[in-house]
Amino acid sequence: MAAEELMPIIVAIKLAVSRHYGISIGSTSSTSIVIDPQIPAAHKLQKWRATNQDNIKEALLVIDRMIKIQQSPIQAGTKFHTVADVARAENVDKFFLKLNIQIIETGQRFFYIACDNCHASYDAELNWSIDCRKCHETTVAKPRERVMVNIFDNTGSLDATTFGEEAAKIINMNATLAMKMNNEVNTPSVERMNKTLKDKKFLVRLKKTVKVYQENKQTQYTILKVDKDKKKNVDEDSFVESSTPQKKLKQVISEAEDEADPDRGSN
Ligand SMILES: [Zn+2]
Repeated sequence: MAAEELMPIIVAIKLAVSRHYGISIGSTSSTSIVIDPQIPAAHKLQKWRATNQDNIKEALLVIDRMIKIQQSPIQAGTKFHTVADVARAENVDKFFLKLNIQIIETGQRFFYIACDNCHASYDAELNWSIDCRKCHETTVAKPRERVMVNIFDNTGSLDATTFGEEAAKIINMNATLAMKMNNEVNTPSVERMNKTLKDKKFLVRLKKTVKVYQENKQTQYTILKVDKDKKKNVDEDSFVESSTPQKKLKQVISEAEDEADPDRGSN
């Protein structure tokens, strides 16, 4: 496939740019997009695209590979730990577990307001400008998913927190919706969410962190990645995979590859 088909030239005006999950570009009601515009700048780009066809294809393949590594699901054949193993473990490390998840009923809001770049927490209103003291970028305040859960198997249970896309998978909504629902009369029902989660097994990558506050040790658990255990879950529909821009890009790339080389995989 030629580079012009892999990379169409577009002009987009009035996009919403967010740094959620990397950099995301979204449309608004005032966005307009022209494909293959007949303007001098586009002609220049066309020339560049034609000259660099091979490099473009190679770059797209590299991106695809990077995405595959980042998003690779927890594999079958992974050595799994039990909750008791993790609680006992002296070494602070990352663990794989197969377990159940229930959301903790503490009136949690399922989001917090964060720096759009590094996700540091801020006591700010939506879209306020932030001079972030952590990442030193000037960004805006955006909501980010956060959910506190209890995870358990037949060896024990512990409380853990998860953020962003992984949290969205558990609560089945994103932070924008969570924030909106927080202002409404019918706030998200933890009871209902837990009913949906109750009979499902999840594969979880968990991080254990031990922090010392004034000589008191505090152990924190963070879920880095959560996938449903496909073998155990028949009811696939109630667990909606959130669709990130990376996944969409990956899909676009792999579709393009399939068309470009129908014999891929046979050599
Ligand atoms: Zn920041």
